[in-house]
Amino acid sequence: MPIRGVLFDVDDTLFDYSGSEQAGILAHLHHLDLLRRLPGPQAAVALWREVTREQYARFLSGELTFTAQQHERTRHFLARLGEDTAAMPDERAAAWFAGYTAHRDAAQAAFPDAAPVLAALAPTHRLGIVSNSSTAQQRRKLHATGLLHHFEDTAIVCSDEHGEAKPAPGIFLAACARLGLPPHQVAHVGDNYTLDALAALDAGLHPFWLDRTATHPSPAEHDIPVLHTLTALPAALPA
Ligand SMILES: [Mg+2]
Repeated sequence: MPIRGVLFDVDDTLFDYSGSEQAGILAHLHHLDLLRRLPGPQAAVALWREVTREQYARFLSGELTFTAQQHERTRHFLARLGEDTAAMPDERAAAWFAGYTAHRDAAQAAFPDAAPVLAALAPTHRLGIVSNSSTAQQRRKLHATGLLHHFEDTAIVCSDEHGEAKPAPGIFLAACARLGLPPHQVAHVGDNYTLDALAALDAGLHPFWLDRTATHPSPAEHDIPVLHTLTALPAALPA
């Protein structure tokens, strides 16, 4: 059965989220002279990622809005630096977070292999997005990095508007429906083995696991194809 559509994860698949996140938090902390309160840049990035993981999970579970998790990341990060932030007003938390995002967005970039592969696939495949994030945020990112026009406008499905997050099969099936294709005619590409590859397989799609670092041994219990670069995708799709 030919593959007629391809769905992509965004962060760390098309878009170098980890790179912009690291550059953004380090520049922000340097600007605020907060780096000296941490053992070093690596520890600063690790702490920011730990706080982000904790608070972003509260957004994905529906406990916090996308904006509220940003405020909570600010409060919890500064609390870990010893500040009393329990009563920090939303406006101040938002202003601190906006400082971070300004630095992060200055460093934002798509991976160099993303645009050529999307351009190669677009004439023959319907292209969409499945992302555990805010639709507005992901559209902004895809637009800023010149990738947005490759996708079907209605096939950008994010957890905030859809109402459930990966690995729920429903978010993959909703994106297939937006492409107008049954799941067995749709491939999915993502960097997270559990939330992307295994979940897409469970939903009946044709998954590809994108392992850019090639440092993880390929899990053998499932027969999921592994890509180390997006460049390998077009030739790997069943014709
Ligand atoms: Mg990802």
